[in-house]
Amino acid sequence: MVANTQPWEMPETMPAALFHAPGDVRYSEVPVPRPGPGELVVQVKQALTCGTDLKCYRRGHPVLLAQLPSPFGHEFSGVVADVGVGVTRFSAGDRVVCANSAPCGDCFYCQAEQMNLCEQLQLLNGAYAGYILVPAPIVARNTYPLTENMPFEIAAFTEPLAVSLRGVDGIGVKAGEHIAIMGLGPIGLLMVKVAKLRGAHVTAFARNPMKLAMAQSFGGADAVVDMADGLDVAQVVARNTPQGRGFDGVIEAIGLPHTWEAAVGLVRRGGRVHWFAGCPGDSTVTLSTKRLHYDEITLYSLFHHTPVEVRAAFDLLCTGQLDPRPLISGSYGLVDLTTALGQMEAGLGFKYQIEP
Ligand SMILES: [Zn+2]
Ligand SMILES: [Zn+2]
Repeated sequence: MVANTQPWEMPETMPAALFHAPGDVRYSEVPVPRPGPGELVVQVKQALTCGTDLKCYRRGHPVLLAQLPSPFGHEFSGVVADVGVGVTRFSAGDRVVCANSAPCGDCFYCQAEQMNLCEQLQLLNGAYAGYILVPAPIVARNTYPLTENMPFEIAAFTEPLAVSLRGVDGIGVKAGEHIAIMGLGPIGLLMVKVAKLRGAHVTAFARNPMKLAMAQSFGGADAVVDMADGLDVAQVVARNTPQGRGFDGVIEAIGLPHTWEAAVGLVRRGGRVHWFAGCPGDSTVTLSTKRLHYDEITLYSLFHHTPVEVRAAFDLLCTGQLDPRPLISGSYGLVDLTTALGQMEAGLGFKYQIEP
């Protein structure tokens, strides 16, 4: 057998969306990447928009979009188009999904099994393009072949679902517990769904009626709290938790200091709070030390994902235990990427398919 057999001719150039500055994404013809040792080039079949993309588009991102102009987009699935020297698990023509990062396996944090904090963690961008170059660590640790009938758009949910699993399983959500999930973007909604799979009683919080409805129809939320007119913590606790003692666990997926603080008010004595969504820049929160100590509140703030969650997410999607497709609000071509991001920003949709 000849190595690196290609079932089709690779073009020289491809369309790509490139981030130039906040609010400035342009479409260019750029060279199709070639794989180095251990790398893959994947023809993107399905890319999905993500809240992080919207944040990057509006504000830029010091880590994700370090060098400008920067490739853009990180949730995707596709077909292996070219294989670097030394890759044995994949060959051209394989349908695959890749996470947007992978740990190195060697640094202090990887050895300490805190792989999401890996010192070498490189975040992959460039899914809004015809082809994407997948770095060797991701090929080795965070790339999976799709099962035979698995649609590309389902596979592309692997990364956001991995993040959502970390949100829920990271605080050990158990059957029968009362769990609050604040913020119902795609990740919040996936967390509602995962918490229900774990057997929890879920109360979902948001301001947008479309999101509250989705928490029930898609996520299976047992109750919803509309925060459009603010949040009366005491009243919510009294109405939505057994004996009004508070939630066993609260997951904050909004990313604002005042809702981080409110999350601490919603939890019962001995409960867990998960500050899951990052807050803007250098913001701070103020908490009652008495509340934290004498009510024995446990605070979590887990970041990103590890290969364990990526694998678990892929399995949930393969087996059909979780069908994420109701979260896809529409489909756009690459040149209409910013239209899709605008729809998200206006709260009109959850995620959009971007077809190169
Ligand atoms: Zn994402
Ligand atoms: Zn590492």
